Amino acid sequence: MNTKTPKLQLLPTEIIQKKKNNASLTKEELSWFISSYLNNEIPDYQMSALLMAINFNGMDLEETVNFTELLINSGEQLIFKNDGKQIVDKHSTGGVGDKVSLILGPILACMDYKIPMIAGRSLEHTGGTIDKLESISGFKVDIPLNQFQKNVNKIGLGMMGQSAEICPADGKIYALRDVTATVNSLPLICGSILSKKIAEGIQTLVMDIKTGNGAFMKNLEQSQKLGELMTEIGKHFNLKVHPVFTGMDQPLGKTAGLWCEVKESIDFLKGDYAKDLYNVTFRLFQQFNPTQNTKAVFDNLISSGKALNKFIEFIEIQGGDSSTIEQKIVHHPKFKKDCFLENNLYIESMDTRQIGFAIAQLGAGRPTKESKLDFSCGVEFHAKIGNKTDGNSPAFSVFGNNSDKLKIAVEKIKNAIQISPKPIKVYNPILN
Ligand code: URA
Repeated sequence: MNTKTPKLQLLPTEIIQKKKNNASLTKEELSWFISSYLNNEIPDYQMSALLMAINFNGMDLEETVNFTELLINSGEQLIFKNDGKQIVDKHSTGGVGDKVSLILGPILACMDYKIPMIAGRSLEHTGGTIDKLESISGFKVDIPLNQFQKNVNKIGLGMMGQSAEICPADGKIYALRDVTATVNSLPLICGSILSKKIAEGIQTLVMDIKTGNGAFMKNLEQSQKLGELMTEIGKHFNLKVHPVFTGMDQPLGKTAGLWCEVKESIDFLKGDYAKDLYNVTFRLFQQFNPTQNTKAVFDNLISSGKALNKFIEFIEIQGGDSSTIEQKIVHHPKFKKDCFLENNLYIESMDTRQIGFAIAQLGAGRPTKESKLDFSCGVEFHAKIGNKTDGNSPAFSVFGNNSDKLKIAVEKIKNAIQISPKPIKVYNPILN
């Protein structure tokens, strides 16, 4: 790992000022700033200021390539031997209730693919695969890189977070962006995601670019820009990027939280799924396997139990207790509240970002870098956009271990849901 800070006769404020004035940073300046930050020679507050300046003023193509390369070079890179299997991955820009990685990973690993997935933690209002996986008792997300690679070679699948070995600069910057409102920047998102994916040693990336009120990209135009940028930056590193655009104007699937999403993923692999989650997962699968019988292949991997067995194999190889998975009773929240909406109306819209923040505050996210998570917490949605409300059945249920936080989340989620007397079309998250 390259931990030495390059020599540069500059002050951190000069570089921050330069970006604040909308000028381009040279590779040397970016390199000096990032490695000084990684070596604790630049404090959080100065990195936060630079990130905020980048948020407002962006980075050009050359800066973004350099930024991505510096994040990659802050750690190791995996190299897989050519044994006929394709090394691939999928990644999402982040959403609420987005548990697709937990489902699609095992499905792809049943085929001729190897998936060395470096995944993220919760970010602002969006959930993180790594935090969800940590809700499985015993499951390790911080395994040594050579062990991770052995696991992927053996069973086709591994998932881990950034570590001291892989993109440590992204790990440190990502945690800071989460708590300084500096996530929402195309070059920062692009560099953060692609650095991890390139360091994994993959050939192809299917990129789920979430679009809508619960995503970092609010409209298709912005998402397409990110898709183009990622495709372009990918080319510089020999990575084929296939962007897919899916909607995030409502939470995906039946649940959003931590353990509840793992549970929903297990149900999916057993053949019990929400239609929107099925459609998004299948849309991404199609991108890997665009043959005529794609749907039959996909459905068969689920109905045969192969994908579920792969999921169990994956949990076990990373130290998780798969017997608790089978019983599905790992976390019992102390409190649960069923919430009703006015009778006989239609759900018109859901402010997914607010719902995501409510779930984060409930205990699924981190208000500060040091915050502890409540794995038991989350929301189950019994009705979503286009569904008719029924005063006798709850529209959603909120659960968790802190009753005060639960009350706040209930109110926040209620306020985030708009209802209408007019019939509303069921929401379709497939945008391309
Ligand atoms: N996911 C990442 O890994 N990084 C980002 O910046 C946003 C989503």
